[in-house]
Amino acid sequence: MTYQNYSLKQLQQIDAAHHLHPFTDHKELRDIGSRMITRAEGPFIYDSEGTELLDGMAGLWCVNVGYGRTELAEAAYEQMKEMPYYNSFFKCSTPTPVLLSKKLAELAPKNINQVFYGSSGSESNDTALRLVRHYWALEGKPQKNRIISRKMAYHGSTVAGTSLGGMDGMHQQLGGAVPNIVHVMMPYAYELALPGENDHDFGLRAARSVEDAILEAGAENVAAFIGEPIMGAGGVKIPPESYWPEIQRICRKYDVLLMLDEVITGYGRTGEWFAAQTFGIEADTITTAKALTSGYQPLSALLVGDRIAATLVDKGGEFYHGYTYSGHPVACAVALKNLEIIEREGLVERVKTDTGPYFAQMLKERIAGHGLVGEVRSVGLMGAIEIVKDKATKERISPVGSAAVAVRDHAIANGMMMRATGDSMILSPPLIWTRATIDMAGERILK
Ligand code: PLP
Repeated sequence: MTYQNYSLKQLQQIDAAHHLHPFTDHKELRDIGSRMITRAEGPFIYDSEGTELLDGMAGLWCVNVGYGRTELAEAAYEQMKEMPYYNSFFKCSTPTPVLLSKKLAELAPKNINQVFYGSSGSESNDTALRLVRHYWALEGKPQKNRIISRKMAYHGSTVAGTSLGGMDGMHQQLGGAVPNIVHVMMPYAYELALPGENDHDFGLRAARSVEDAILEAGAENVAAFIGEPIMGAGGVKIPPESYWPEIQRICRKYDVLLMLDEVITGYGRTGEWFAAQTFGIEADTITTAKALTSGYQPLSALLVGDRIAATLVDKGGEFYHGYTYSGHPVACAVALKNLEIIEREGLVERVKTDTGPYFAQMLKERIAGHGLVGEVRSVGLMGAIEIVKDKATKERISPVGSAAVAVRDHAIANGMMMRATGDSMILSPPLIWTRATIDMAGERILK
């Protein structure tokens, strides 16, 4: 790598001249210049000027085993030397996706035993969307193709991912969504509960908005409901306990498939391998990516339930769908090693019994009392701090999002990398965080 031959200023100029960034106002970026992250170790990232930042976001919700894992680099290197690429098309396969599929079937909820690979969460949701519609067509019900999603959901930024998602700004730039996808209310009690309505009743009401949408369309026209167990990019919105059991009941009652998007929550973040297990949900598909390789390689895995898999295999013929890099051997080798590390170090159990509860306590004891904090919330190592102007009335600081951005910049100046989305400050750290790292985060956030 020869970037050391360039000054920061030169890299920023080249960046501005040639590199279009995701989700970025480029004019603004040009004025500020990118921060160049050049090194990372354990829970820390370092920029080109040597500034240390505690990475409260695990990259982008993905580096669950932390940085600097030589074992993962070696797994990639060994696989690249032996056989860098071959596909799983045309009745061929390579060993690593085969073995990874076996491992995922062992870890996933028991009704899930098949896996379809892609390179990103967005691709995997495209696959899921096509697969559930294909399923109903194979079952002789091609009209049963409407998908119910939720406002503020994030399911990726391909055309299908954006259409499934419920972000207004993204839809405005879409120029035509995939048809027959509707969005109902999100299960976020802090903002949407009615005066006097408790969390339990709110959770039921939010779930019943899905039932209303089914009844409005006619159950014979509804293929599936899709949801993140905890809405991530929408602001770590944690549903009340009553929500998911009611969603499950409604889906079963109307024979509507349940699609979970666990691109963020998969692989230990909530203290179980999958949030489906945390919330006791039986899903027909589970979309996963990110922490499957801890971000060391791009890889997604759509976990496919027995009901859909049986129809696909027995009645399907050829499913005209797949990506050049479906089951990429190097990415799958890294995923296998990554899962081995998570297991060997007991990271999922640690989140459940130790760091998850300690993280919740830290948020409550150190952060919640601040005058601008309306609410803190977390499950496992995934949390948010809600910024308000007035704790009692929940009045927001205007314009929406400005306060969280200011708090984020303050945290970064204090050596703490966090994300702001709307008025929520987000934390989703590597699962290697210890109690000491959590204390350090608490200090840096409020310093
Ligand atoms: N689904 C969820 C819940 C996500 O959070 C994301 C990305 O953050 C995606 C899908 C899209 O994944 P990718 O960015 O890998 O395409």
